[in-house]
Formats: sequence, C-alpha cells, structure tokens
Amino acid sequence: MHYNNLFSFNKLEYVTGKKKPDVKCILCAIAEKDERVALLEVHRTACFLVSANLYPFNVGHLLIFPLRHIESIKQLSGAEALELHGLTNEAMDVLSEVYSPGGFNVGYNIGACSGASIEHLHLHIVPRYSRELGFIDILGGAKLVVEHPETTTKKLNEAFQKRNLT
Ligand SMILES: [Zn+2]
Repeated sequence: MHYNNLFSFNKLEYVTGKKKPDVKCILCAIAEKDERVALLEVHRTACFLVSANLYPFNVGHLLIFPLRHIESIKQLSGAEALELHGLTNEAMDVLSEVYSPGGFNVGYNIGACSGASIEHLHLHIVPRYSRELGFIDILGGAKLVVEHPETTTKKLNEAFQKRNLT
C-alpha cells in the first residue's frame, strides 16, 4: 500500500477547489513558472526544484525534481545525483525545523505498476508524524488533516532562504 492510492480521493479539489491544469507536463510548467499551474516552489538550485505537493499525503509533503524533463533516475548525471542527495538532506533538515516530524518516507515511483501519475522524474519526501491517522482511517473517510499547499510553500520557502543566507 502506498500513499499514491490516496490521490483517488481527488484531494486536489478538496484542497484547492480547482481541476488539474491543462499543461503538457505539470512539473515542467512549475519549473517554467507557467501561470496555469499553482506555483508551489519552495527552493531552486542549478538543476533542481523543491516544490510542495499539490496533492499532499501529509503536512509538508515535498517533491524534488530536475528542471530538465527526464523520466528515469538512470538519466541523472553523477553531478546531478550528488546535488540531489545534498538537496534531499537539506529538505529533510528544513522539514524537521518547521514541522518536527518523527520520520520520513523518501522515494520514487518507478514503472507502470508503481502508482506513478507524473512522468517527469520526481522524488517524494513525505514527513511522518507519530499522531497521524493510519491508512485505514483515511480510507474509511476520517477527516484528513492537510495544510493548504500554499501555506506549506510559504513556511518552507522562508526556512530554505534563512539557511541559504548564512
Ligand atoms: Zn516535465
């Protein structure tokens, strides 16, 4: 069981009241600051962008993705892989600072049976909290505690900026 299954609840509408934007690739659109998509950019480096997830499974759910459109981790260069590793650690530090989660799930959905819904390569960073609802509770229609992605973006953007000033 993976959190992707939760997307079937159409949380996009739940959270934002909007339907999926009509763009070729939503992550490229975010990278290009396309006005048709919700701009949830938290932090940007030379090759990557950290974004709040418009379909958060949990408070603080982030995506890290390359600015260039690639669809496999096998297409990452060594330098990109190294940058991504550092950025993953930085994102977890920022999330710890802002939300104090008890743990993280970090990973990719790869291949047709993985539940992947966006082809553009992206790494999920999902903070986990000791008192969150279990998966079955959520399936059973219990109230989801989801922070608005724009609020998440603002909080985490500030935390990233503070770190990168020093
Ligand atoms: Zn793309």
